[in-house]
Amino acid sequence: MPADFDTIVNLAKKRGFVFQSSEIYGGIRSAYDYGPLGVELLRNVKAQWWRSMVQMRDDIVGIDSAVIQSPKVWVASGHVDSFSDPLVECRECHNRHRLDKLENPDQCPTCGSKGSFTDPREFNLMFRTHMGPIESEDNAVYLRPETAQGIFINFENVRRTVRKRLPFGIAQVGKSFRNEITPGQFVFRTREFEQMEMEFFCHPDEADEWFRYWVDERRNWYMNLGMTEENLQFREHDEDELSHYAAATFDVDYLFPWGWDELEGIANRTDFDLKAHAEYSGEDLTYFDPATNERFFPYVIEPAAGATRTTFAFLIDAYHEEEVRGEKRTVLKLDPRLSPIKVAVLPLSKKDDLVEVTNRVADLLRSRWMIEVDVTQSIGRRYRRQDEIGTPYAVTVDFDTLDDDQVTIRDRDTMEQDRIPIQDLVGYLADRLPS
Ligand code: ATP
Repeated sequence: MPADFDTIVNLAKKRGFVFQSSEIYGGIRSAYDYGPLGVELLRNVKAQWWRSMVQMRDDIVGIDSAVIQSPKVWVASGHVDSFSDPLVECRECHNRHRLDKLENPDQCPTCGSKGSFTDPREFNLMFRTHMGPIESEDNAVYLRPETAQGIFINFENVRRTVRKRLPFGIAQVGKSFRNEITPGQFVFRTREFEQMEMEFFCHPDEADEWFRYWVDERRNWYMNLGMTEENLQFREHDEDELSHYAAATFDVDYLFPWGWDELEGIANRTDFDLKAHAEYSGEDLTYFDPATNERFFPYVIEPAAGATRTTFAFLIDAYHEEEVRGEKRTVLKLDPRLSPIKVAVLPLSKKDDLVEVTNRVADLLRSRWMIEVDVTQSIGRRYRRQDEIGTPYAVTVDFDTLDDDQVTIRDRDTMEQDRIPIQDLVGYLADRLPS
């Protein structure tokens, strides 16, 4: 059973994962701010992606391109002409909907009226603004709707500077903006969001093989970070579902509380983008293979994931309610690599006697891990709170610590406790907290 949507949203708000943006002004629709725990979780998801894509590999490098690029980029990529969704408006209640997402294309899901929709019109999803002080057509620019194009336009820069031979990839993580017609489901679909995209350039003859490879790799990534297998689905697009640039696409879907929905798209983008940028810019973006004397446009395999959306999925997937000795326990069974706080340091009492040793333990740990020192409330309540935010280990300092210099470590999942000398603490945790 997927976790209940409202329960997750309430937990996210109550514990400071995600806040409604501009809340003191009544909020702004579809914008969210990540709180102290949410920012850690989001950063950890992005860090794990970067680690697997860039750090652990010889054949992929990273970049960080501008959000506002030459408007010609979006003409060449096809976004100015065709990055749009079909919009209909209900003549009765005046709510707007995305036609392709409606269960019944003839009935307004807001007011229930039938046959009340206007004719669909293509609504371009790019945010437009002006560069500089003059608001003229000549100064119009766009906020990027995807990070991918920033990679394509730097293909030659990167190839030249890192002296890579094919196949190689370029990865990027960053904000993208889409003026979505119907944002919603909390942080699932927002108008400002973060993406994690990698473009893998290869010989056209090898594209199918690399496509399969990346589908497997991406499955491994989610599984390795503990996502429940039954909640993950890899679905190949039918021919008529494919984007204009793609030869093949897999959607990675997650079983959200409202049903299956997309986390990531893995596409064989062929040589569409490099060819388009070569044509519009006049630059030579072909690749020359010295081994075969062949010159060609590389094909591109693209795993394109949403960072904010994936973070939300990990949060939902980790949520568990259990019964422990007749009491309900809420626990986020996050992989420790994703947990916002790795270790909680909990002195049994607020009394002055324990302050010094608590500080000593905290200082030992904080240079390596995100920790939290919590001195409020009963120890039971504090364990519950740490369970609820997914902290894998809690170290308790008690009055015996003053005599034996030992602390108690509690494991979030098993709730078992070990008593070990403070001098062994870092080693004990290092064995159990992978990077
Ligand atoms: P959809 O059909 O849901 O609008 P898409 O197929 O257009 O999405 P892509 O262009 O393939 O999405 O973008 C890659 C990934 O970026 C998506 O799988 C998703 O995780 C993320 N993403 C796209 N749009 C949004 C959004 N509005 N809010 C949050 N994440 C998004």
